[in-house]
Amino acid sequence: MTLSPLTVVPPGSTIGMLGNGQLGRMTALAAANLGYRTHAYGPDRDSPCAQVVSVETLAAFDDWAALEAFAKAVDVVTLEWENIPTATIDFLAARVPTFPGAHVLAVAQDRLEEKTFANNLGIGTAPFRAVTGVDSLRAAVADLGTPSILKSARMGYDGKGQVRLGPDSDLAAAWQSLRTDSAVLEGFVTFACEVSVIVARRADGVMAAFPVVENRHAKGILDETLVPAAVTPAVAGEAARIARTLTEALGVVGLLAVEMFVTPDGRVLVNEVAPRPHNSGHWTMDFCATSQFEQLVRAVCGLPLGATDIMAPCMMKNLIGDDADQWHDLLAEPGARLHLYGKAEARPGRKMGHVNRPR
Ligand code: AMP
Repeated sequence: MTLSPLTVVPPGSTIGMLGNGQLGRMTALAAANLGYRTHAYGPDRDSPCAQVVSVETLAAFDDWAALEAFAKAVDVVTLEWENIPTATIDFLAARVPTFPGAHVLAVAQDRLEEKTFANNLGIGTAPFRAVTGVDSLRAAVADLGTPSILKSARMGYDGKGQVRLGPDSDLAAAWQSLRTDSAVLEGFVTFACEVSVIVARRADGVMAAFPVVENRHAKGILDETLVPAAVTPAVAGEAARIARTLTEALGVVGLLAVEMFVTPDGRVLVNEVAPRPHNSGHWTMDFCATSQFEQLVRAVCGLPLGATDIMAPCMMKNLIGDDADQWHDLLAEPGARLHLYGKAEARPGRKMGHVNRPR
């Protein structure tokens, strides 16, 4: 294999971060630890990033003048949100090294592209059909049966933009509720557990995978991550192989998080991918040799990738909405490591922080 040249962006440089939420914040903290500055770019006022970055540009992702100035001010660009428009990434990539590339986002932004990409590599997913209206929804339900899940192809996250369908569901109402022109109907997977693997990859193709972890969801949002996953060595090996295969085939530079279902008979099916730090990797901040945020900095700056060994079995619990009010008790709990994102308002369903603890 011919390796691409590796440009090293040394400590002291400025990392441009597209998106200014908690993932950008935790990346900026890790970057600072290695002597980098972070310049965040995003539309949200009073952002989690604003409190910790060197510079923040508050602007839209199609503000070309602001993007031009941003490109001039930074040495490398990465992102914390996969729905950054690909035109924005192309514009920046023409001016400054930008990772991951637009081709990666084009796949990760669309559930149909994502599943097709995986299937073309021989990697299994839930059975699915493209849906573009009520008639194609009826045909898809006739094919896949119920229970099944109708998901908007683009811009869905944390269980939003999804409707679960049963034998008596009103298909016209389900279609209208999504307010989209492109969706996917997925057959319901009866899974034994859900797992994820995060892989880091540098521009020269060198990769490092974090261990396989188990994820438990509540109301479509990640609730807990258990480390390591209680799966057989064969399942763990297959999950890691799938994640590495996707990372390489997509040509990701940075991180790729791959969420998977494990079936009762031990098959591993891809649910979705995200080319950025991932909520299921937050445990690495306290219980791994290298955190996912530091690994992202290392990957996009062309530094040696860090070790990914688990320091101790642990779990991560998300603090959603009012959960963060427990900060006092969590600080008093021996061994617990609290991370709050500095968000002013605790709305229901909003990720406010997380706690990592040994188990
Ligand atoms: P997603 O937004 O695709 O990550 O879905 C959120 C959660 O809904 C997943 O982590 C699963 O717990 C559940 N889910 C999504 N798709 C399916 C499926 N096809 N079969 C069973 N459960 C699913």
